[in-house]
Amino acid sequence: MPVSGLPPYDDANIFARILRGEIPAKTVFEDEWALAFHDIAPQAPVHVLIIPRGKYCSFADFTAQGSEAEIGGFFRAVGAVARQMGLEAPGYRILANMGEHGGQEVPHFHVHLFGGRSLGRMVPAG
Ligand code: 5GP
Repeated sequence: MPVSGLPPYDDANIFARILRGEIPAKTVFEDEWALAFHDIAPQAPVHVLIIPRGKYCSFADFTAQGSEAEIGGFFRAVGAVARQMGLEAPGYRILANMGEHGGQEVPHFHVHLFGGRSLGRMVPAG
């Protein structure tokens, strides 16, 4: 059941296809809850996307409909990916775009992990 006012999950979205192994991705981490792979158009020296295995359109959908185990397992995986990538000491940023104003393009919930340089201000002007 989709969250009220949001579209239903689209099985043809690009991250669903990556999860099914239909198109390749440069995987850096996977476990029971999450898959992490390099963004195809990196915006920092490290730019990794972490996605839950479940069919959730967005952060709103995931946090409303996901089980405690899925939510806990997913966010532990985000931390594990950052650790594995050697980003804890220098630091990093995580970001999730949600909906139109958030600039979300792919309708499968994902967290961006950025690192490898000083990342400047939180929200760009404009
Ligand atoms: P959004 O704007 O939805 O938060 O971010 C979607 C991200 O997915 C973008 O940073 C974009 O570069 C990335 N992306 C789109 N298509 C692909 C793809 O086929 N493979 C990978 N690895 N990343 C993709």
